[in-house]
Amino acid sequence: MHTYDLVVVGSANADLVVRVERRPGAGETVLGSDLATHAGGKGANQAVAAARLGAGTALLARVGRDAHGRLLADSLGEAGVDTSALLTGGAPTGVALITVDPDGNNSIVVAPGANARLTPEDVERAEGLLAAARVVSLQLEIPLDTVAAAVATAARNGTRVVLNPSPPVPLPAEVLAACDPLVVNEHEARFLLDLAGDPAADASSASPEQWAEALLATGPRSVVVTLGAAGAVLADATGAARVASPRVEAVDTTGAGDAFTAALAWRLGLGESLTEAVRLAVRVGAAAVTRPGAQESYPTLDEVAAR
Ligand code: ATP
Repeated sequence: MHTYDLVVVGSANADLVVRVERRPGAGETVLGSDLATHAGGKGANQAVAAARLGAGTALLARVGRDAHGRLLADSLGEAGVDTSALLTGGAPTGVALITVDPDGNNSIVVAPGANARLTPEDVERAEGLLAAARVVSLQLEIPLDTVAAAVATAARNGTRVVLNPSPPVPLPAEVLAACDPLVVNEHEARFLLDLAGDPAADASSASPEQWAEALLATGPRSVVVTLGAAGAVLADATGAARVASPRVEAVDTTGAGDAFTAALAWRLGLGESLTEAVRLAVRVGAAAVTRPGAQESYPTLDEVAAR
């Protein structure tokens, strides 16, 4: 029996945002706007996006015993995410220090904090949780060893693995081989193809369909490449195909990729084909860019259906 549609294993951060006229140089101080504090981190974003859509979702993550940790627990709980596997302590909650200039450009410093203390042992202790999930969704804002442990635990229990390798690093072969699918944006696709020495990494000479096919050849069971407003390309043993995204007025694309991946992982767990799941995921991603913020922008299934 599956208690959870989706278990996300990943990061939880407090995003601290200040708008500035210009960034300070070395040794300089500038004044900015009032501080805005948002719940973030790719793991927490995916869990909130899935729960908002109606998926039975749990998050395995680590936060500090501090106010930011409580903020995250509250926002996850409000969205309906099961937080029984939200671990606390070991370091302060992860924080992203974000300055935004008048042109809308972000400069970000991340202090991983407790995210860096989510260990393979934490994952092994949560084996029952991973075994009770239809799908486990992972990203790379926690240690790679921990991701590898989650992949091995999921494989042992017959739980499907979805991985968004962000921020991208070289992946062990056994991690790549478990991904069904590997979900990448254009930047991550190029990074991984470059590592594999694949000429398809050269954007000028290859189409996204070719990237997806070339990535598939590196080991995963299936691949999805997201293309922003242009939608997404998927590839599996039957070939590659493109799914267009609905045309929308984009207000803020922050966290669109996390909403896309959460929707995709949820629907695959319900037994949809990769094509069917990507068709819903592009609509969820498109809805998320029509509103500001990351978690604040995530739609319910009714909102997606009404568009
Ligand atoms: P981010 O880092 O901003 O979270 P990403 O780079 O991981 O995003 P994208 O490929 O930009 O991922 O977007 C993910 C999905 O969101 C796309 O496949 C698409 O469905 C949707 N999307 C993103 N931007 C737009 C847009 N401008 N118009 C319509 N849909 C969009």
